[in-house]
Amino acid sequence: MARKKKTLRPDTTLAPVGEPDKEVYVRELPVCCICSFKEAILEADHRRLLELCCSCGRSWHVTSSLDSRVLSRFVTHAGPRAGGTYPAA
Ligand SMILES: [Zn+2]
Repeated sequence: MARKKKTLRPDTTLAPVGEPDKEVYVRELPVCCICSFKEAILEADHRRLLELCCSCGRSWHVTSSLDSRVLSRFVTHAGPRAGGTYPAA
């Protein structure tokens, strides 16, 4: 059996899709979205996800992370702070 998951690193940030300036730390996500995020990370799927889509209807871009598990599962969308070029919503 797979080992039980460790806690997420707190330095992962996400932003609502289309609202890159509303970036939040992973712990600030709604609880349901945190659960979806953890599930996505734990999935044994080799495709990287462009965004996290939660069953509550919210979707999130990972804007930055130092967690290799997150980085291997999600494409990161660096926000303006990281010098990325975000199209104006
Ligand atoms: Zn949710």
